[in-house]
Amino acid sequence: MAGAACLAYYRFGVSKETAIANDPRQPFQITKTEAEWRARLTPEQFYILRQQGTERAGTSPLDQENRPGIYVCAGCEQPLFSSTTKYSSGTGWPSFYAPIDQATGTLEDFKFAMRRTEVHCDRCGGHLGHVFLDGPPPTGKRYCINGLALKFIPA
Ligand code: FE
Repeated sequence: MAGAACLAYYRFGVSKETAIANDPRQPFQITKTEAEWRARLTPEQFYILRQQGTERAGTSPLDQENRPGIYVCAGCEQPLFSSTTKYSSGTGWPSFYAPIDQATGTLEDFKFAMRRTEVHCDRCGGHLGHVFLDGPPPTGKRYCINGLALKFIPA
């Protein structure tokens, strides 16, 4: 279930930014108005990061990116994931077994009678994807991340 379904139905959720708006750690270090985010991001990036959207599986070139480097937040450029934790999950979304320490936050998400854990950038609150418990060692976690939420910086 968690595999291919990953983020596919998330877009049909309730109000925009509900999960992030309820995050008790608000405010984030970086906050912008909707207009400021729209000016900074492409429409596709805005949909993912600020409206909790989901890109279609297999559409991100970062899913096939295997060079060493760092994946930073497309919203605020905070380093989020290292290539050393990236692996091929076969889901069609870039996948990592761990984030960079302190870089991401999580929030439980109960939409569609599924309990999932939403992952966002700890600095700007941008929605990244979800984390599941079917990943590889050493953590057993699968951070299933929208490529549009990331920018890759080769080492
Ligand atoms: Fe960010």
